[in-house]
Amino acid sequence: MTTLINESNPFTNALSQLSRAIKVVSSNDDIIKRLASPDREIKASIPVIMDSGTLQIFEGYRVQYCNILGPYKGGIRFHPDTNIDEVKALALWMTIKTAVMDLPMGGGKGGITIDPKKLSKTELEKLSRGWVQKLYPILGPNVDVPAPDMNTNSEIIGWMSDEYKNLTGEKTGATFTGKSLDDGGSEGRTQATGLGGFYTFDAIREQAGLPISCKVIIQGMGNVGGYAAQIFHDNGHIIIGMSDSKGGIINPLGLNPSEVENYKKENGTLAGFPNAKYVTNEELLTTETDVLIPAALENQITHTNANEIKAKLILELANGPTTPEADDILFARGIPVVPDVLANAGGVTVSTFEWEQNLKGEHWSEVVVLEKLKSSIQNQAQIIWKSSKELNTDLRRSAFILALSRLSKKI
Ligand code: NAD
Repeated sequence: MTTLINESNPFTNALSQLSRAIKVVSSNDDIIKRLASPDREIKASIPVIMDSGTLQIFEGYRVQYCNILGPYKGGIRFHPDTNIDEVKALALWMTIKTAVMDLPMGGGKGGITIDPKKLSKTELEKLSRGWVQKLYPILGPNVDVPAPDMNTNSEIIGWMSDEYKNLTGEKTGATFTGKSLDDGGSEGRTQATGLGGFYTFDAIREQAGLPISCKVIIQGMGNVGGYAAQIFHDNGHIIIGMSDSKGGIINPLGLNPSEVENYKKENGTLAGFPNAKYVTNEELLTTETDVLIPAALENQITHTNANEIKAKLILELANGPTTPEADDILFARGIPVVPDVLANAGGVTVSTFEWEQNLKGEHWSEVVVLEKLKSSIQNQAQIIWKSSKELNTDLRRSAFILALSRLSKKI
């Protein structure tokens, strides 16, 4: 029988995933002790003079989880619900993810509790620079290398990178990744997470018994979900559902992702999109489809809706969308869950390529970047799929086991 834990705390879930994996294949004790808590967690108060002239204090975070494999690496999230437990979970997942991808990077994550839609551009820039002013002594190309995440993008990373260079004199630009191309960014970085998700899916589609043209539902249409929708569509799959934070649309005959994007830009909502049924995010998740891609937030598939899922495969492009309880239900129902630590690792992989290019003063072509991404993520996907069959376990445990074996060799 499954013991219910507090499914809403992502850090509890991340630790639970770790302990569930070592029940299948035991791991080196020292690595388990090391991963029980982060190396360092920092909360910073960030003062910003708002456009109104008043001073407002925001709470920012950086969690440096583990640097056994290399400098801490992980994005910075701006979200009203961001808190230290969420950032710790995301940083632990980054530690597992870089090991799954065999990258020379450790795991970290950062954030600010803020709804950026409520700030003017000037306020957003001050806040972004303010995060760096508080945290720059613990960052650096060989120490900790942040990147974008939810509600942060190349413009915000550009302000942060500029602030860091001004404060330290560092010139390579390798402290932040996800920069724009004219600021030292890598070709292929913007679409890397969605594209990496597609490459992962493509590597295991046949073994999962799925057709060459699948019906696909995607929750979230930001950097990750938006690109994923376009890429799956361009590769012959049928996007039957898409959503944003307010709700989603379903058309069993297929949606054109760029038309959906344009409609959302013009109307600010998906409601009223022609020939589609407007649904809640809950309904979207339980609609019948071949592939379900959560690409928004944590804790979307839990013990309350896992039995209602009607997808044949779940591809996790968000971090932490499925809880451990839901994993057990889905495994028992024979629905493979391709875990975040593999499926969304395209972002950190190309971020690592960006870091490497900056340090070497090189600029690689898009063809080179994407070929390197494709071969590395598909190689890891095959290893994880095969070992899950050999061990008769789910893909998440199989991915964690692979990561732990790599981390154990370096401790
Ligand atoms: P984003 O800010 O660009 O987009 C987020 C999307 O989620 C938006 O479409 C938003 O409307 C939607 N959304 C927000 N709240 C929602 C809710 N309650 N229900 C449904 N949809 C909701 O963020 P992103 O960069 O696309 O990140 C999405 C997920 O992917 C996050 O879990 C993030 O950690 C993960 N991720 C991002 C990257 C990256 O490179 N950006 C890399 C790996 C993983």
